[in-house]
Amino acid sequence: MKNKNFAAVYPGSFDPPTNGHLDIIRRASHLFPNVIVAITENSAKNHMFPLAERVKLMKESVKRIPNVKVVSFEGLLADYLAKTGSFVLIRGLRAISDFEYEFQMALMNRQLNKKIETVFLMPDQAYTFLSSSMVKEIAALGGNTKNFVPLCVEKKLKKQLTINKLQITIKR
Ligand code: ADP
Repeated sequence: MKNKNFAAVYPGSFDPPTNGHLDIIRRASHLFPNVIVAITENSAKNHMFPLAERVKLMKESVKRIPNVKVVSFEGLLADYLAKTGSFVLIRGLRAISDFEYEFQMALMNRQLNKKIETVFLMPDQAYTFLSSSMVKEIAALGGNTKNFVPLCVEKKLKKQLTINKLQITIKR
């Protein structure tokens, strides 16, 4: 990539960031001069952590990767890209099950703006089974998430679980 200011955008809800997301971010950071992790609300998902918290967790998780920046954005991704002038999107593909949704989204984004190209990266096999929702489920059932998420996320999940339990006790 000739332009040192060029940035690829990795959008998602990252609720919470997992080692699978980080694997994709590392791969992208080797391919592109800069990577912008753009965190947003996904109206189809019920988020566990508010946007500001997810940004904080992601910033902490990528602090050792020098060419990665974390931001949040609202509204249409295509509009955000037009504003930043970056037209390369990074998405992760774990399995065939991701393909249909990702393919549809990539084509829709291109429909919204012809300049948008989506680049799919595959994580290490070890992360192909990993998802934020599965991590939340494990944490909620008292399981250990150590091998699946960065340390800051593991701590946050434990704290959140304690708060949830306290709230249930108080309600009773
Ligand atoms: P969204 O709400 O946009 O789907 P996610 O945070 O769930 O946001 O996912 C962001 C991107 O990261 C998606 O392209 C998704 O396929 C990818 N992704 C999620 N988990 C993993 C994983 N374990 N390995 C590789 N890519 C992943």
